Amino acid sequence: MSSITAYKGHIVSPISTSGSGDYSFIDYPRGLMVVTDGKLTALGDFDQLSERSDLGTILSQVKIEDFGKRLIMPGLIDMHLHLPQVTQTAKSGQHLLAWLNRYIFPAESKFSDIDYARRIARWFFAELAANGTTLSVVFTTIHKEACNVAFEEAARTHSRVIMGKVMMDLNAPAALCEVTQESLTGSMEMARKWHGAHDGLLQYAFTPRFGVTSTPELLSGTGELWKRFPGTYMHTHLAEAREEIQTVAGLFPEARSYMDMYDRFGLAGERSVFAHAIHLDDGDLDCIKQRGAALAHCPSSNFFLKSGVFAYNRVRQCGCLFGLGSDVAAGPHMSLFEVMKDANFIQPDDWIEPRELIYRSTLGGARALYMDGVVGSLEVGKEADFVVLDPSAKTGVVDDILDQPTDEILSCLVFLGDDRIVERTYVRGRLIFSKALQETGNLASVNLAG
Ligand SMILES: [Zn+2]
Repeated sequence: MSSITAYKGHIVSPISTSGSGDYSFIDYPRGLMVVTDGKLTALGDFDQLSERSDLGTILSQVKIEDFGKRLIMPGLIDMHLHLPQVTQTAKSGQHLLAWLNRYIFPAESKFSDIDYARRIARWFFAELAANGTTLSVVFTTIHKEACNVAFEEAARTHSRVIMGKVMMDLNAPAALCEVTQESLTGSMEMARKWHGAHDGLLQYAFTPRFGVTSTPELLSGTGELWKRFPGTYMHTHLAEAREEIQTVAGLFPEARSYMDMYDRFGLAGERSVFAHAIHLDDGDLDCIKQRGAALAHCPSSNFFLKSGVFAYNRVRQCGCLFGLGSDVAAGPHMSLFEVMKDANFIQPDDWIEPRELIYRSTLGGARALYMDGVVGSLEVGKEADFVVLDPSAKTGVVDDILDQPTDEILSCLVFLGDDRIVERTYVRGRLIFSKALQETGNLASVNLAG
């Protein structure tokens, strides 16, 4: 028997208006959404839908969750962050390579301890849900067992993730430096075990850390593996810091650029995700576009490590796929609302409109990950990944914000939003976070459901 639930509230969502990335927003202040077995089966204005003969009967029989004036929006998509780094947020004052050596590599070494790995993974997925993130692209560490534990915790909490074991066989501390073949074999085993698991909520990403910590053998082997597992992802860093770029140029002198180096190893294509991509030329952007690869723009992290400014409008105009990433722990916040705000603030001359930033954190991210047929917006036929938000919980002063035109509401979310406005988070129709239950001490029962 089907499981049907209806949700009433102020529904706002981007929707695609073409196959080439154009979008607009739907806005139903008195909206209704019907979810059947985890999928959206009806959505629109409450009064209009109630009059539909086929729905009238259903609505009289099912439970209607009424969120009043609160917003119902698609869940947020974080295209780049690091699970093992959550203990290292706010460690300031260093550029990328020094920061990695001083704080991050020691923190990642601790993931050889499986109990520790589980404790951090448990916290990580609860925190993602509390921030309204319903799909994330995640780095773990080189440790296979710690990565297994991360996938187990993701499954237990009903999280939707694209994740992988990190690969490093050069320029890493001894405890984190792998034998090339073992790194490849380990990654292959993980892809076999986890890609498509938990009814497809879990997907695998081959995850070489970046050019600095990779031999040519590791990268060419990763390219071959990635081809052997259709539908899997490839997730790495690209052109984040000047010193990193110079090191890569020295390691791979035959490549025209950092991006060209990845392309030569077969690592650019549909379902490849390159984090940062700050210092690129036209040839690099052309390659990214031609291959259908995606970029993860991480403005909070770029601010924090003083890495530079992503060429937002140039990348957008050239038609490259991209979304936003928190890049915790170089990004101090897991909240994508904070990341959206920083994406606007970091541009010295350009305004990036709130509706563009909300799109980039939902449908735009889904499109970059080739998942816009499944999630990213509230449209009939898609899976029900959504959040319930109360912007007035944060603003206080603007108590009529939910009566404002769509763009004013979106602007409030972008410039004032953080985890405090997230009341509920749902993945595939299942509640995975509720602020009310958290406050009454019942959150564990939600996260443990199923
Ligand atoms: Zn990163």
